[in-house]
Amino acid sequence: MHCPFCAHEETKVTDSRLTGEGTQIRRRRECLACGERFTTFETAELVLPYVVKRDKSRQPFDQGKLRAGITRALEKRPVSSEDVEAAIAHVVHKLRVAGEREVPARMVGELVMEELRAMDEVAYVRFASVYRSFQDLDEFKEEIERLRQDTTSGNRQQLPLLPETKRR
Ligand SMILES: [Zn+2]
Repeated sequence: MHCPFCAHEETKVTDSRLTGEGTQIRRRRECLACGERFTTFETAELVLPYVVKRDKSRQPFDQGKLRAGITRALEKRPVSSEDVEAAIAHVVHKLRVAGEREVPARMVGELVMEELRAMDEVAYVRFASVYRSFQDLDEFKEEIERLRQDTTSGNRQQLPLLPETKRR
């Protein structure tokens, strides 16, 4: 890279080491013209995708919006902010791992619903009813019914007391 002091085109690396618990490479460089030294850092770029809405408009993924949506769904629900942050981290991680440059908004919505469902069913239904914009009341009732069956037929009743830690 060019020297930031004199803009000379050639600099040499004098030292190179891992930092940030191995997530970064730090290089010391020296300008071959003016002799100034400087440091560069190299990190992996894990780009988050653009989110494509139903009307085809694209927006960069926005973690603030994700948090707002989840928080709104969880309003007055007994869920800790740590769990909320963990849920956000899960969604972000899945989007990064997917490695897509664009994802449909629906996919983000589904990921959020997965998280909410594991945390709090009331929040899940709140979110789902808005996000999925259930076509009609019957569809909504079916979803509620499905949840009710899950709750009564498994150990999910214990969820509020025993927060699931290994969801994936
Ligand atoms: Zn220089």
